[in-house]
Amino acid sequence: MMTSHYSLVCTACGATYDGEPGRLTCDADHEPALLRARYASRQLHVDQQRGGLFRFRDWLPICRELGTASGPRTFVSEHLGPLLGLDHLVIVFNGYWPERGAETWTTSFKELEAATAAARYPAGHRQTMVVASAGNTARAFAHVYSADGSPVCLVVPERRLGSLWSLGPLSDDVELVAVTGDSDYFDAIRLAGSLCQQPGFFPEGGALNVARRDGMGTTVLSGATLLGRIPDHYFQAVGSGTGGIAAWEANLRLIEDGRFGTTRMQLHLAQNVPFTPMVDAWQQGLPEIPDYDEADLKRRLNGITAKVLSNRRPAYAIRGGLFDALQESQGKMYAVTNQEASSASLLFEHAEGIDINAESAVATAALMQAVARGTVRRRETILLNITGGGERRLRRDQPGIQPIPVTRRVALVDVGCQSCLRSLAESLRVAAAE
Ligand SMILES: *Cc1c(COP(=O)(O)O)cnc(C)c1O
Repeated sequence: MMTSHYSLVCTACGATYDGEPGRLTCDADHEPALLRARYASRQLHVDQQRGGLFRFRDWLPICRELGTASGPRTFVSEHLGPLLGLDHLVIVFNGYWPERGAETWTTSFKELEAATAAARYPAGHRQTMVVASAGNTARAFAHVYSADGSPVCLVVPERRLGSLWSLGPLSDDVELVAVTGDSDYFDAIRLAGSLCQQPGFFPEGGALNVARRDGMGTTVLSGATLLGRIPDHYFQAVGSGTGGIAAWEANLRLIEDGRFGTTRMQLHLAQNVPFTPMVDAWQQGLPEIPDYDEADLKRRLNGITAKVLSNRRPAYAIRGGLFDALQESQGKMYAVTNQEASSASLLFEHAEGIDINAESAVATAALMQAVARGTVRRRETILLNITGGGERRLRRDQPGIQPIPVTRRVALVDVGCQSCLRSLAESLRVAAAE
């Protein structure tokens, strides 16, 4: 048996576990807490021979590498930065942008998570991983798991099916379950959770999965290695909060490394008005997300253009989660209107020459707010995480884009029904065996 190059440490009690792939939580009896990966290699050795995210493999909880993994493309902005009066704006671009060699085909940083999540398990693993998604995660996992030949079951709300496309036919290992009716991401999470109770299925884990967090954390590693130091500020749009936590954890590892300085980069995280649960909680000093009335919540969810930021149960209150990360980094949260996001999107495309998605536009608008308020200064180093971009460009270059076929549809009213679940699991197993 191979000894792992990482262990898992509980952020609440410090209990330590071997780097086993399936472990998501601590066994001790305390409040919910994230486990965090601790790597044997305290210093980051970047393997320059590799182009994609696996060049950071020392700090990824993986046991193998996938052939085709892309990585973030990171550069000092020559156009947007000066336009905003910033000397050291570093853009981390996740998406499709051929002139810059960015080949994240599914056009979001969820592909970093998917690749690391898959590589955490040995090849030939035959249990089906279940992933709930508001769209981008499912698209990324479909692409990566299809290429890898690993089984995955994606659960999404039906109204998000429009974001489930692929560049070509996918392998039979990819199954797609849509929750019909007036469902949202939360309903997909509920169904995915129950499906995981059935034999043959296991949960991907979301924010609890260190593979997802450390895969996303490579955005900060690539920024810091470009700059030769930890940046002063980090901007990102958040939905589940996982990316923000990941950025903070990468920051902590870089401090321990010793060669990148001791900066605690300030987290600047943004949500899209009118759905701003983490902004509201943070600005009121609350360690937990306030309860919303259901009808109010639906109205808010329907009102945002950055649909991926629609998580109503983010990893905020959990120990080692976003509230802790914001506290430790003296972070700030931003509420961005659709109008602000759309202006920021136009500005970015005009300045840098590539389209960005609505979530990245929210992050860019937050940066513009921070500049206007003097929260960030000309000479400071700033990392702007463009979490997704180039989809319009990709659609122009790749006419073969097609919808991912739905394997099964489940009515919203059946999400809590046990017998419906058993038959769903059975039919998925049969489909997988065929
Ligand atoms: C998922 C996603 C986000 C938000 O990331 P979280 O880790 O869920 O907070 C932002 N932008 C894009 C493009 C995404 O796909």
